[in-house]
Amino acid sequence: MVWLLRKCEKCKKYTLKQEKCPYCGGNVRIPHPAKFSPDDRYAKYRQAMRGLKLK
Ligand SMILES: [Zn+2]
Repeated sequence: MVWLLRKCEKCKKYTLKQEKCPYCGGNVRIPHPAKFSPDDRYAKYRQAMRGLKLK
């Protein structure tokens, strides 16, 4: 379900919140990894998911 991730425009953190960042209250948007290989992209998502689980 990696496509549910949003990225904060302000603090650049990933979140599952749809409306705003739970860390700083900034706007979130769907991240658009353009030039990364699929492996890099999923590695990033896995890191983000690990970070969320630690909270
Ligand atoms: Zn934020």
